[in-house]
Amino acid sequence: MRILVVEDDVALAAEIQKALENAGFSVDIECDGNSASFTGCTEQYDAAVLDLGLPQRDGLTVLNDWRDAGCQWPVLVLTARNRWSDKVASFGAGADDYLTKPFMLDEVVLRLRAMLRRTAGSATTVLKAGPLEYDITAGRFLLGGQPMQFTAQERKILVYLMHHPNRVLSRSEISEHVYARDLDPDSNTIDVLIGRIRKKLAHTDLLVTERGRGFRLNNQIAT
Ligand code: CA
Repeated sequence: MRILVVEDDVALAAEIQKALENAGFSVDIECDGNSASFTGCTEQYDAAVLDLGLPQRDGLTVLNDWRDAGCQWPVLVLTARNRWSDKVASFGAGADDYLTKPFMLDEVVLRLRAMLRRTAGSATTVLKAGPLEYDITAGRFLLGGQPMQFTAQERKILVYLMHHPNRVLSRSEISEHVYARDLDPDSNTIDVLIGRIRKKLAHTDLLVTERGRGFRLNNQIAT
């Protein structure tokens, strides 16, 4: 899952990036409002962490830009301001959650995971596709109740698939939601990783190749 972090405090931005990457997210950083607005409107993300006090263009304007451009991913507003009017304005502009500085980095991770699973339509912290389960809190995969081990790269792809069960996902969509902006994997990488995941899953009908279109995690097979 790929997250856009907008924060003009460079040291804090680096801390948030590190915490999110340790939690398995791919992260892009923007430090001013104009860049944040452009990047959010042109790149693919699963969620954003947005500071309100930004140079060039304030966070609320950035959020309005994103929503006007049709961006639907959840946004966690992050700010030193603690005024009621700022909270009302943030939710009015389409924010999904709000965190006041100072905060624990772990709380950013927890709130992002909660927003993402709600976006995926799950009321619980365990995502399921047939016999495969992903416990978001523990970061653990189970297949038929047995723990599964995946590499960091395999996990990133599988976590994205688990948030979009039974949807055909193209290689480019998967690539855009799994890799940060500065990483440009060659076109074969996704196929190779999908092949490895499928081999570990050992259920040939669980991770389906839709010829010419992409891949689909089949959540309708018997458990
Ligand atoms: Ca700021």
